[in-house]
Amino acid sequence: ISLIFIVHILTQFISTVVFELTIGISLWKQYFTIQVIGIVVVILLWEVILTNFQVLEKLVKAEKLQIVSHLAASISHEVRNPLTVTRGYIQMLSEDVSSHTKVRYANIALKELDRATDVINDYLTFASISPENTERLRVSEEIQHVVNSIKPLANNNRTELKLSLFEDGAYSIMGERKKFQQCLFNILKNGIESMDHAGEIYIDLIHAASTIQIKIQDQGIGMTQEQIYRLGEPYFTTKNKGTGLGMMVSYSVIKSMDGTVHVSSVQGKGTCFSINLPIHKYEAN
Ligand code: ADP
Ligand code: MG
Repeated sequence: ISLIFIVHILTQFISTVVFELTIGISLWKQYFTIQVIGIVVVILLWEVILTNFQVLEKLVKAEKLQIVSHLAASISHEVRNPLTVTRGYIQMLSEDVSSHTKVRYANIALKELDRATDVINDYLTFASISPENTERLRVSEEIQHVVNSIKPLANNNRTELKLSLFEDGAYSIMGERKKFQQCLFNILKNGIESMDHAGEIYIDLIHAASTIQIKIQDQGIGMTQEQIYRLGEPYFTTKNKGTGLGMMVSYSVIKSMDGTVHVSSVQGKGTCFSINLPIHKYEAN
């Protein structure tokens, strides 16, 4: 509004002083009304556009928050259930029961605790609040690290892990170390779990022009086309003790690193995960 008056006075000033013109009162009225209407319309339009943008921004933010809070809510639910069961059985343990029943109760309690741990493990880094730093990673180093940490599990399942890596000192990728490790860990864990007999998992590292490919091949039960399609969906699991979170985490980590995953599987023969990650240009200095 104050803008109108400033312009108004300015116009009068310019017209009288510069052009030595005196504007008739009726013309002046017309001019004034048109100007006011014009400015009001412009201001209204501007406000509408501005609020539109603000609403859009808020919507996007709310959407993101909602996804996170949904996941957090359902995951705390997934953890609380086994904890409640465990609590119940431990309470019954403290009551007077035969030693045979005690062992049974203890086993159930332990199993439920393991389940809670599984949920947290599969989800852990995904939900990590503090943002980790993206840094230069050597794929072969990270694979080695993950393989070492999963060895006990593999040994338990009589699974042998066969590595064929190359010295990738000159090639590196960008990513968050912990998340990348978790991503590989979850895929390897599935491979191990897919074999109910002794077997091998081959881990190959292949280097192309602009990408590094990690191939993880198991000799497990394999998957149907539909199962492959549903991989990465939260809570999709075919295991009765599964969490269905492992692949969701792995996929989202790979996506965040601008990578892609390709899965091929033959039922009864095994599954192969191929992960392609862009090479970070190495700058010698
Ligand atoms: P979970 O392992 O807890 O079931 P995941 O998200 O890790 O959850 O895996 C989802 C499902 O994908 C598994 O239940 C399984 O059916 C299937 N799957 C994943 N990896 C493999 C594999 N290497 N071989 C066979 N099936 C697999
Ligand atoms: Mg899993």
